[in-house]
Amino acid sequence: MYPDVCLKLPEWIAEEVGDPARCYATLEERMALAVRLAARNVVTGGGPFGAAIFEIERGRLIAPGVNRVVAEHCSLAHAEAMAIMVAQQVLGTFDLGRADLPPLELVTSAQPCIQCYGNLWWSGLQRVVIGARREDVEQLTGFHEGPLPDDWAGKLEHRPPLHPIAVARDVLREEARAVLRKYAQSDGPVYNPGE
Ligand SMILES: [Zn+2]
Repeated sequence: MYPDVCLKLPEWIAEEVGDPARCYATLEERMALAVRLAARNVVTGGGPFGAAIFEIERGRLIAPGVNRVVAEHCSLAHAEAMAIMVAQQVLGTFDLGRADLPPLELVTSAQPCIQCYGNLWWSGLQRVVIGARREDVEQLTGFHEGPLPDDWAGKLEHRPPLHPIAVARDVLREEARAVLRKYAQSDGPVYNPGE
């Protein structure tokens, strides 16, 4: 009676990620992937946001994500949410903080909006790494991030009885801002159905 819900990453994403076994040693390397995904998403008709889930210690990539709101007719399909959902399917659990898993993190090209903040809160992830700031998103694209708590980072880092979620900000911020600027300056995304 009602349709199943199935959200897909774009077909180009495996090609853009490249070697799926590569380990990303530094936060900058991990953010560079998220920013590259965001940039390609823009030129293929999507929103200017990319994200990925990594093992914190080894830097192994678990899942990429990009904004799929328009393509999937789904306001929930933000880049961070896509990465979290794909990681949960890859690992076969709703709890990315499960005791038998290595600690995992979300790397996102822009600060999570109110929706993604909530998704992060319940995900089990143990760190969030952010490129562009909220004000970058709002000023450069006109998107709104929603009413986050003033002390949104402090609330992630101290939330007993739940484990803390560490916050790293401004990683490759300028590169992430450049993608937002490119999106805003385009006359509309160049959509190539072949990609
Ligand atoms: Zn979001």
